[in-house]
This record gives sequence, structure tokens and C-alpha cells, in this order.
Amino acid sequence: MADKIVVLVHTEPDGSLAKSGFEAVGTGKALAGALGTAFSVGLVGKEVQGAADVLASCGAAAFFGVSGPDFADARYGSDAGAVEALIKAAGASVVVATGTSRFARVLAGVAGRLNGRVDSHVTKAVAEGDSPAVTRWFYRQRIEAGIKRTQRPWIISIDPGSQVPWKGEKGSGKVEAVAVSLSDAAKSAKVTGIKAPTADQQTIRPDADLLLVAGAGWTKKQADGNIHVDDAAKLILDFLSKSRASLGGSKSAVDMSGEGGAALPFMTHLHQVGQTGATPRHLKGLATCCHGEEPHVVGWRFITERRAINLNAGCGWAQGKTDVLYVADAFEVMRKVNERLKPK
Ligand SMILES: Cc1cc2nc3c(=O)[nH]c(=O)nc-3n(C[C@H](O)[C@H](O)[C@H](O)COP(=O)(O)OP(=O)(O)OC[C@H]3O[C@@H](n4cnc5c(N)ncnc54)[C@H](O)[C@@H]3O)c2cc1C
Repeated sequence: MADKIVVLVHTEPDGSLAKSGFEAVGTGKALAGALGTAFSVGLVGKEVQGAADVLASCGAAAFFGVSGPDFADARYGSDAGAVEALIKAAGASVVVATGTSRFARVLAGVAGRLNGRVDSHVTKAVAEGDSPAVTRWFYRQRIEAGIKRTQRPWIISIDPGSQVPWKGEKGSGKVEAVAVSLSDAAKSAKVTGIKAPTADQQTIRPDADLLLVAGAGWTKKQADGNIHVDDAAKLILDFLSKSRASLGGSKSAVDMSGEGGAALPFMTHLHQVGQTGATPRHLKGLATCCHGEEPHVVGWRFITERRAINLNAGCGWAQGKTDVLYVADAFEVMRKVNERLKPK
């Protein structure tokens, strides 16, 4: 029997959909097209009508919604109840869900409740014959695996940033409201507030177009024989605040603080890109004062357009890993770039 597909997305606090939501819709739609089957969309959030309107022309056979104040915030009991109810309402055997941290917390639990299976971090979903087949990476993006399953429902969560977002005309989406009865235990958990760094302090921005990677060179002795870490920090933060780029670091740059050397104060281990760090998916990358092969060959494999600034024409980047290498002083280049940039 042909699979029935539902795409599950949640709305943001203002009722909008994040880019990752559009990516899940694009993937579910393409998969349904390849399998020759219909798909529906399931929405969770305080408000869902606006999102249904934005997705009105996506080709979904139906929109199902779980909404209300109980579903405004990420909370295990309410989100798991909502996801379970939406899968049942859609009668879905294959679930394409947005792989946000909010859904990542509940999808495995829901798969357990429904005696199904779940695969996370999926980067490709295609039809093989009349069944879906997915791809994901293992072991720090070194091994790519193809997965097919017979168990249903099969929940597939899509890695944000890995897909082309669906785009289309706004219209009016008719939402079929799905009721969820929450247990007292689920209701008793209250979100009292969110503690998060302010937008300017938060320098890891997966949705940015550009990734700036800062290497250890920023903290090394410069031509005048002195270290200029304060200048470096100002130049980098100024660039990030004006361009809204995301920040990455080489292993050497992020290890500096632990080794007691002069360090960029905002650099943490979460910023590290490379074979033992993250593998970001920004469209463009600019590496500065960074020599290492690991961050570039492994860490940047999904970056489409790559440039670097290094004093050394023979640095790892010059060996065919970058599209453009500026052999120059990154302090001077970034100062000039910042002068030209207008704040976003
Ligand atoms: C098992 C293993 C796993 C590893 N995993 C990772 C990983 O995940 N990620 C990672 O990054 N590394 C990783 N490494 C470390 C990696 O091999 C390199 O040591 C590291 O990436 C080097 O960092 P860097 O280029 O910032 O520093 P450096 O090698 O010190 O290079 C600094 C660069 O800055 C340049 N520079 C200095 N001043 C300026 C200036 N004013 N303008 C322009 N350029 C300037 C210099 O020319 C130099 O090229 C790993 C190593 C091992 C053994």
C-alpha cells in the first residue's frame, strides 16, 4: 500500500515559520511527488492559521493543526501529545518533521508510543521504487549511510540547513483543528521564562548566509612583534554585528583559553569547525588567520563558496581548498571591510 505522508512543523512564538519549516515542507512535497502520493501538513504552535496561509499553495491535501496557549512553548508533554495526535489525524505512515531542537526532544518518544521508528539528521529523502529512502551522516560526517525501513510509522527528521526551502504564493489554508487532551502532569510543567544570550552575544547563527572562521593567527604575534588580541576581538565582533554572519573557530583558536594563552574572549568549543568540531552549512565561508587542513577539508565540506585571508601564500587553504585566497593581513582587510559595511 502506498505510504501516506505528513510534514510536521511548529510555528515560532510570533506565529511565523522558520526556514527549517519551509525546508521540511519542500522535502515532504518532493518525496510525495517522487512516490506519486499525496501529503498533508501538521502544524503545532500557539497560532497556526498564519502558517497554513503561508503554505496554502504548497500542494498539501490537508492542513491539520494543534494550537492554543498550551502549545506555545516547547514542553515534552504537550509537544509529544500534539505530534502523536497529528500523525494519527493524518493517518500517516511516513512523517517528515523539521529537525529543530524542539521537535528533536519528542520525536523518538512519539515513535516509541506508536511502535514506529525514527531517523534524525536526515539530509536527503528520495523514492526508491515505491518506498522512501533516506540519507544521513555518521561519525562526524565521515560516513554517509542510506537507510530504508519497513516499520511504520517512520518518522524522518530533516537536518535544518540541508534542504532547499519551499517557496510559493500565500493564500488561505483551511486548518482542521485536532484536539489533544493533556494529562495533569503535562499541564503542570510551566515554562516560566527563557534564559538565552542576547542576539549580539549569540554568535553561532545557523541561518546566516556567511560563516566567518577565526583561526589562532588572530592571537599570535604580529609584524610589530606584539599580540593584538583586543583589536582582533573588536574587529571580529564589529564584523559579526554588521554582517550578522555566524562565527566559527579553528581548534587552535577555541583551545587558546584553556591553555592560558591570549584568547578571543567570545570563542567557545561550540564554535569549533572541523573533523572534531561542527560541519556547518552556510552558503559562504570566509576563513581568517586560519591555516589548518582539518577545519577546511572536513569542517567546510558543505560550504558552497569559500574564501580565506592569510599572510602565508602556502597555507593549507592555498592548496586548492579555497575558491579565493587573499594573501594579506587579516587585521587590515577586516578593518577596511568593516568601514564599508553598513549595519544590517
Ligand atoms: C585528531 C585531530 C583532530 C583535529 N580536529 C580539528 C578540528 O576539528 N578543527 C580544527 O580547526 N582543527 C583541528 N585539529 C587541529 C588542526 O590540525 C590544526 O592544528 C588547527 O586547525 C590549526 O589552527 P589554526 O589554523 O587556527 O592555527 P595555526 O596553525 O597557528 O595558523 C594560524 C594562521 O594564521 C595566519 N596569520 C597570522 N597572523 C595573520 C594575519 N595578521 N593575517 C592573516 N593571517 C595571519 C598564519 O599565517 C597561520 O597560517 C585537529 C587535530 C587533530 C590531531
